[in-house]
Amino acid sequence: MPYPEAVNLPFNSRVLRGAFMPARKGDADPGGPGVWFVFRGDSLALAAAESLSPVEGERPPWAGEGDGELFIGTWKGNPVRILDMGIETNVPSGYLVEPLLFTYLHNRLPDDLLTLSGLAQQILCWERRSVVCSRCGGVNEAIPGTWGKRCAGCGSEHFPHIHPCTLALVSRNDELLLVRKPEWPPGYYSLPSGFCDFGESLEECAGREVKEETGILIDNLRYVGSQSWPFPAQLMIGFTADYAGGEILVDRGELEDAAWFKRAALPPTFSSGSIAGWMMEKFGRSR
Ligand SMILES: [Zn+2]
Repeated sequence: MPYPEAVNLPFNSRVLRGAFMPARKGDADPGGPGVWFVFRGDSLALAAAESLSPVEGERPPWAGEGDGELFIGTWKGNPVRILDMGIETNVPSGYLVEPLLFTYLHNRLPDDLLTLSGLAQQILCWERRSVVCSRCGGVNEAIPGTWGKRCAGCGSEHFPHIHPCTLALVSRNDELLLVRKPEWPPGYYSLPSGFCDFGESLEECAGREVKEETGILIDNLRYVGSQSWPFPAQLMIGFTADYAGGEILVDRGELEDAAWFKRAALPPTFSSGSIAGWMMEKFGRSR
């Protein structure tokens, strides 16, 4: 079991093990060479030698003028900066650009550098989405000491958007309730999940999503753990639950299938580096 507890999953800060010291926006960049998370759209530029790694050293000249640079902290004592290069910019030989989700799915970076990359992507996403005020269209300015912004026009304050999303591992005797979306790899199943709605507790969200997706009622929810998920800014919150009634009725608008599976014969699922895969590994196959 590579991740004994949910807190150790990739993208959670624990994985950085204190080697990353975050800065707050407005902290002075100490200058000098550093580690660069250079994004083109949602894709990350990586140095491709024997293994992949973030870009290191002086500011990469091939990133062009880009959209400024943002100092976000230090990694093993070296400044960490984000660069948003133009969508048309090409990288020279020795580098590649790929979506961070691809990097994650194919285990192309160690967990700590993957987690740091995810943090950079999440911060960049917020910076891109908070340039102007969503209330009046005025220009937002940084609120010192936070990632928040204040509109120079109307004074509205805006803070980073992190979207809570619940997952539930539902048991009925020796069976687990799993769902399948049409875009997933052939044969893959995972846990019912969905975003928290207005006026809803996390437990209510989990119960509603299971009911909507599968027609199944649940009770006895128990919190398991959570995972930061930078695609682009979710917080995944895992519960286990017991079957409380109902027959499977698949939500065809969202799912291809929903079914009960014997614990001893679970279908393929996503990596144990995601909280869904980790929960199926820990609470599914282990009993
Ligand atoms: Zn405004």
